[in-house]
Amino acid sequence: MAKQITKPQKQLSFVVDLNKCIGCQTCTVACKKLWTNQRGEEPIYWRNVETRPGKGYPRNWENEGGGFNAAGEVQRGRMPTAGDYGVPFEFDYEARLFEGVPGRVRPRPAASGSGFASWAPNFDEDQGEGAYPNNYYFYLPRHCNHCSKPACLEACPNDAIYKRAADGVVLVDQTKCKAARNCVQACPYDKTYFNTATQKASKCIGCYPRIEKGVATACVAQCVGRAMHVGFMEDTASSVHKLVKVWKVGLPLYGERGTEPNMFYIPPVLGPAVEDAQGNLRTDKKIPLEYLVKLFGNDVPRVMKLLNDERGKRLMSQPSELMDIMIGRRSADMMLNPLT
Ligand code: SF4
Ligand code: SF4
Ligand code: SF4
Repeated sequence: MAKQITKPQKQLSFVVDLNKCIGCQTCTVACKKLWTNQRGEEPIYWRNVETRPGKGYPRNWENEGGGFNAAGEVQRGRMPTAGDYGVPFEFDYEARLFEGVPGRVRPRPAASGSGFASWAPNFDEDQGEGAYPNNYYFYLPRHCNHCSKPACLEACPNDAIYKRAADGVVLVDQTKCKAARNCVQACPYDKTYFNTATQKASKCIGCYPRIEKGVATACVAQCVGRAMHVGFMEDTASSVHKLVKVWKVGLPLYGERGTEPNMFYIPPVLGPAVEDAQGNLRTDKKIPLEYLVKLFGNDVPRVMKLLNDERGKRLMSQPSELMDIMIGRRSADMMLNPLT
């Protein structure tokens, strides 16, 4: 029988506007520096930003199973290997620039020091798909969705994972974790990791020490592209509530995997247009609609039409509450206290 999860008083929720993310990785670095810079955490990025289409991080996570089946039973997918996470690489500046070793500066695996890196987080950055001039890509920021129905929690045989009543953040009780790793296999987003030094599961903590002080998460507060919103879904004045519940432009990633994510995405509608053989721009976009539907579901066409309509209003100098929320002129309108 499925475990009982008490509905939290409030649910910490996120919206990422994929039209604004510039793939700068500032959010990735903010999280890494703050929370996962200890021994054993080298390959762990609670927060990552991956190029889409692409293999993602860990490699091919979206094809490895997990989540709930149609009968509501939790599924354990494939355990990612060390190679799927990849070795964070270093550049061999020392040899090339100071020791006179001939050749170009190239990334090398930090651990072995020999051979060139063959895979690492974000190794396929900006590759995307398609042929020039109609090749395309966009950036997909990801962290734990702090799901309302967390597969990681359901799969844990030691009841080490819990959802906080105050804010809906999903955490691993490190004193209860016995290294079963079922959570790593069950999360359909591969957003639970295993720390080889502590032999405990490790995942995004929703920056709960900041949330308890009313301060935005580090990844959102540091976002250079002002692409992210964070707040409580029950707060009707919050931008997350307005974007998801009122305007309904925030969509879950792979929502059919049954975990009820609390991270939502505004699909990229403003991508570049297709060029014909003469170099003229057509009206259709390079990013195929079917690819966006695969990621964000059948609501994508409705959302794209709405976004285009509302954008059209602003282009005609007419008011649009939706565009104003998405522009987010003031950080305080996009997030909890933006104090960093
Ligand atoms: Fe658990 Fe994965 Fe959902 Fe996070 S995204 S709560 S790790 S199932
Ligand atoms: Fe990291 Fe905090 Fe963002 Fe989670 S919410 S990815 S812990 S910065
Ligand atoms: Fe995208 Fe913002 Fe992260 Fe930069 S900091 S990669 S713009 S979400």
